[in-house]
Amino acid sequence: MTCDPKNNCTEYLKGLAEKRAQYASFDNEEKITWCSGCGNMGIQNALKRAFSFEGLGVKDLLLCYDIGCNGNGSDKMGTYSLHGLHGRIISAAAGAAVANTNLKVIAIAGDGGTMSEGINHLVHAVRNDYPVLFVLHNNQNYGLTTGQASATTRKGYAMNGSPDGVTTEPMNPSEFALGLEPSFVARTFSGDMKHMTKIFREALNHKGFAFVEVMQVCPTYNKATPSKWFWDRLKFVEDIEGYNSADLEMAREAAHDMNDSLAMGILYRDPTMPSFMERLKSREGLETSILVDEVKHYDVSGFLEELQ
Ligand code: SF4
Repeated sequence: MTCDPKNNCTEYLKGLAEKRAQYASFDNEEKITWCSGCGNMGIQNALKRAFSFEGLGVKDLLLCYDIGCNGNGSDKMGTYSLHGLHGRIISAAAGAAVANTNLKVIAIAGDGGTMSEGINHLVHAVRNDYPVLFVLHNNQNYGLTTGQASATTRKGYAMNGSPDGVTTEPMNPSEFALGLEPSFVARTFSGDMKHMTKIFREALNHKGFAFVEVMQVCPTYNKATPSKWFWDRLKFVEDIEGYNSADLEMAREAAHDMNDSLAMGILYRDPTMPSFMERLKSREGLETSILVDEVKHYDVSGFLEELQ
């Protein structure tokens, strides 16, 4: 929508006011506990902006949080939410998403839970292409437990628990996801609100598993990559001549470098891949109904009484 001076921009201003009201509807009374300058705040605001632009209200969403600094956002938005076990949130989110396809399900986790404890869940969620938007907060350390090295911490940097420096090469989450024949992989940066909002909006409109890696600043514990380090290296795929986000090999090549330049944007997208639900033979002809409406309800009160 654009502002047309001939009609005093009435429609434009009305639309803007509606979006603002929708954005504000996500606010609640809970206090933010993240450190000053933490990238989590930007990520949360970008999500709220993306929801508002896409016309998604608090009752349209289920936000599923893993353990970690990211998980301290689980009670900060007025949506349905779930705070799961460390590394296990993708499987919980996938279950909810296939049970109730009327909900937009978002799974949120850090690099610790995703690339170590729960990496098995990530692998199979990408393979199965569950209808989930997955937001990976990659702050390159275990921030909640005071700055231990994770699988994505840069080699050579001293962290709590490894004072002589990390001795192993870091994992590259987007490159890893691209190796699993995904349907959507994107990368963005916690300091770039406009870019994050754009990527989240695209991901919300993807019908399968949308993997979004957010390169996140953690000013308290990750001194190796402060905000400027990222800004000096961001390379948007739109600016790469001939970049084709439907080309998996091109995406893998772009995602590889994590030192001199960081490819940002929709690295890969295959909108033609049939969704998980569409592939199920048992669901043929049931396109208009959802699992939560189909299950039979049993009275278990007798059983519960027996347990008392
Ligand atoms: Fe954010 Fe790092 Fe503080 Fe956690 S430790 S709240 S990631 S700045």
